[in-house]
Amino acid sequence: MENKKELRNWLDAFGLDHPLVIAGPCSAETEEQVLKIAHQLKDSDANVLRAGIWKPRTRPGNFEGVGALGLKWLQKAKQETGMLTTTEVASPHHVDLALEHDIDILWIGARTTVSPFIIQDIADALKGTDKVVLVKNPVNPDLSLWLGAVERFYSCDIKNLGVIHRGFSAYEKTKYRNNPEWQIAIELQNKFPDLPLILDPSHIAGRRDIIFDLCQTALDLNYDGLMVETHYDPDNAWSDAKQQITPATLIQIMKDLKIRKEVSESEDFKNKLNNLRAKIDVADNQLIELLAKRMKVSDEIGQVKKAQNVSVLQTKRWNEILGKMVLEGEQHGLSEEFILRLFKAVHQESINHQEKIMKQ
Ligand code: PEP
Ligand code: MN
Repeated sequence: MENKKELRNWLDAFGLDHPLVIAGPCSAETEEQVLKIAHQLKDSDANVLRAGIWKPRTRPGNFEGVGALGLKWLQKAKQETGMLTTTEVASPHHVDLALEHDIDILWIGARTTVSPFIIQDIADALKGTDKVVLVKNPVNPDLSLWLGAVERFYSCDIKNLGVIHRGFSAYEKTKYRNNPEWQIAIELQNKFPDLPLILDPSHIAGRRDIIFDLCQTALDLNYDGLMVETHYDPDNAWSDAKQQITPATLIQIMKDLKIRKEVSESEDFKNKLNNLRAKIDVADNQLIELLAKRMKVSDEIGQVKKAQNVSVLQTKRWNEILGKMVLEGEQHGLSEEFILRLFKAVHQESINHQEKIMKQ
């Protein structure tokens, strides 16, 4: 797939003067619930209503969705509010039912994107469709798997494509339900700047209080839209209760977000600068996390050395590291002087950590 401008035609055709906002509950629960939420969102910036009908649950026993019945509720919501509709499809059978009920946008869930076989089956079922298909990133941090899914749709003559960034699962617990790994989405954006990129802050966060910040970061990184789980009674939602926000909260968030538009040349400059600064912030955060990870390993080495009564400073090993890093750095255009200064500082911090452990 080359970077084709036609990829974003569907979004330009919406004629929005703000990023696309998709909102609605994690799951359709009852007809009243779907209609009530749709009406609460009706006159907001959200013009696409989302609701999961078939819910892919990692563990059995959780609410698995109301099934095809819910498609009728989405149709009714569309009639009553004029909002477009979207739901997740995970099999050719889902595709047939969604098309029969004239769902406007189909999204592919993270657990589906990991399977090229299922993606191919869904792409075949959608062959030549004009519907918009949004592909969520796979559960694991693998850019090729994500792009591969987009390419399979594109090869089946499905041209109205976009991607949804919903974060990546990790074994270690962090403040996120799914780590954003912004650099993966940035890489995708650099490769395919015309492929609309939408953030799903809800599944990244897994909680309400950081939804706003995630949305702002996405706008600073020039994302094209947001998909936010929204429920009038989040605490009692049948799925993903902790991360859903009310339509009123979403409307407030949309008011507070700074959307940077290209108005004049100087606005364009500010835009670019903001975009690049957001990328620097992402990289800086990664640096800190990596340094912290390195120090943890260093602490463990300290414990091992202490148990064996070995000295903290191992000059030979240290000189080997330094030599290797200077060479590595050179290959990446980093000066010897910089590498030496950086690694001496890192080494000193490591020694401080280990000495503390020795003294314990
Ligand atoms: C969802 O959107 O409710 C969902 C199940 O998402 P994901 O595939 O990102 O887990
Ligand atoms: Mn959900």
